Amino acid sequence: MSKVFIVDIAKCTGCYNCQLVCKDEHCGNDWTPYAKAQPMTGQFWAKVEQKTVGTIPNVRVRYTPTFCNHCKNAPCMAAADDGAVYRREDGLVIIDPEKAAGQKQIVDACPYGAIYWNEALTLPQKCTGCAHLLDNGTAVPRCVEACPTDALIFGEEEELKELLQGAIVRNPELGCAPQVYYRNVPGQFVAGTVYDPEEEEVIEGARCRLQSGGKTWILETDDFGDFWFKDLPEGRFSLVITAKGYKDINIEDISTLDNCTSLGDIPMEKK
Ligand code: SF4
Ligand code: SF4
Ligand code: SF4
Repeated sequence: MSKVFIVDIAKCTGCYNCQLVCKDEHCGNDWTPYAKAQPMTGQFWAKVEQKTVGTIPNVRVRYTPTFCNHCKNAPCMAAADDGAVYRREDGLVIIDPEKAAGQKQIVDACPYGAIYWNEALTLPQKCTGCAHLLDNGTAVPRCVEACPTDALIFGEEEELKELLQGAIVRNPELGCAPQVYYRNVPGQFVAGTVYDPEEEEVIEGARCRLQSGGKTWILETDDFGDFWFKDLPEGRFSLVITAKGYKDINIEDISTLDNCTSLGDIPMEKK
């Protein structure tokens, strides 16, 4: 019996409800034995990370809700003395607020930055999975219940097998075996707009062929002259644009290594 969280990035609108209700549930509320009250400021047990990708005019804002990963191989547990961090039968990793007092090394042990130090109580604190609610018969944690788009799911790993297919965890290379899975994580993109400078018009239906390491992606510009290659891997690409009556365009060394790429307006010369 092990529970998992699933975050469907495609459904997350960045409304921050999960972050807000986590505060409402835990700020000023003592849920001993699972957690002392979260302070009003400085801690985000649920945190929606916002990242802007691409460059003007092709920009997207992406939201990633994060919280403790309730790792199966949790470094915070290994760093704690006296069993101050433990895993429940349902898989939730809990910091015991009595035993963990004064153990600041627990904060530093989490490679995900999910643990906060409560200076006033000299206590490491983090997401409890809302264990107090689950114990009282609530089916899901507060953040999951509050998500208006069902982007957050909590349940038995066994029962969620289908949704878990293809889902990924954050920083798998750390070997922590996180139990928070992410679905529909978007890849990089390469975008641009093709136009005829003489006619001052966009070119519809131009054929765009993107290549990298033996792989090819093909699409045509839309009614606005735009092309938008989505869900690309990180890497270097070359692009060939062809359109009837125009000279071919070759663009080399397009990188998606650090960011998505906007090629902006691309003029095509008549033959
Ligand atoms: S409540 Fe749901 S939709 Fe809103 S930010 Fe959180 S995960 Fe995204
Ligand atoms: S995410 Fe950090 S705090 Fe949570 S279980 Fe893993 S190591 Fe511990
Ligand atoms: S499970 Fe509970 S404690 Fe954890 S982020 Fe959600 S609301 Fe906060």
